[in-house]
Amino acid sequence: MSFKDIIGQNRAWTILQNTLRNGSVGHAYLFFGPEGIGKRLTAITFAKALNCLNEKGDSCDECNSCRKIEGGNHPDVIIINPEGVYIKIEQIRRLQRMVNFKVYEGRRKVVILDSINEMTDEASNSFLKTLEEPPDETILILLSTNIHTLLPTIISRCQGIRFNLLPVESIMEVLIKKKGVGIEEARLIASLSNGRLGKAISIDIETTLKDRGDAFSILSDPLAEGVCSIFSKADIWAKDGDNIHDLLDHLSNLCRDIAILKSSRNHDFIVNLDMIDELRLLSERLSFSTVQNIFQTVQNTIIFLKKNANLHLSIEVMMMRIGEEMGYL
Ligand SMILES: [Zn+2]
Repeated sequence: MSFKDIIGQNRAWTILQNTLRNGSVGHAYLFFGPEGIGKRLTAITFAKALNCLNEKGDSCDECNSCRKIEGGNHPDVIIINPEGVYIKIEQIRRLQRMVNFKVYEGRRKVVILDSINEMTDEASNSFLKTLEEPPDETILILLSTNIHTLLPTIISRCQGIRFNLLPVESIMEVLIKKKGVGIEEARLIASLSNGRLGKAISIDIETTLKDRGDAFSILSDPLAEGVCSIFSKADIWAKDGDNIHDLLDHLSNLCRDIAILKSSRNHDFIVNLDMIDELRLLSERLSFSTVQNIFQTVQNTIIFLKKNANLHLSIEVMMMRIGEEMGYL
């Protein structure tokens, strides 16, 4: 894949391509922006372009070097992912040993850390030493979904490159051209992916619609089967641990849509456009502050879960707060 194939991040790859062409490649880059919008793909393409045997300033995808990097078996290009939840000190030590060797067969060593946010304090402090004294011929690429939680000393030593969410139209175009999805389905998937191409491509529409229906039922009828339904739903959601972030995303989107319907006639920003009639009915029943408070409760739950709070308890508390906000409890 060459830079031009990376959808919607023209600014990022133009900067990188210019540094390659001018010979002004830095020692450390920080690619930051939400998940699923092409940071990792751009980092791998940059690693290929730095070592490509045919192209200057891009990757050809055909030479031995590009193919090895694509296959994850180039000795000079390493991607470090969290082992379990975090990138650990042992991984950073391995990295430090590895970058001290000379380039093996490429032109530059490239180390991609995905993601720098998931690092133990010990690993962060050790990694800082590598950033402070970057080894020759090595390019460090740090990927981050949230630069606000990074040590300022890490940020200040890297060249920051921002990655933006993609417009619905760009995602639709990819879904239609590359996946053969029909226009209406592409519009729906693009809206539900919240600007993330990676997510849009991996969405299974049937599962997504079912999850969204579940999320909607929390707002439309949280006590369908009495007060106990809060606990039974919390049980079901908590058991579906892998899927919980999608369910919470749906809940956030639905709240946001209802808030928009209550405050504006502009429907451009509504995600669940295909549900507008049901959402309008619900918006007539709920006050703006209720919707706002429910939205905030869901956001807090997302933050708690990112901090490894107890899943079952967090969902139960969220459901109870939603029931309370809606005047059921
Ligand atoms: Zn190549």
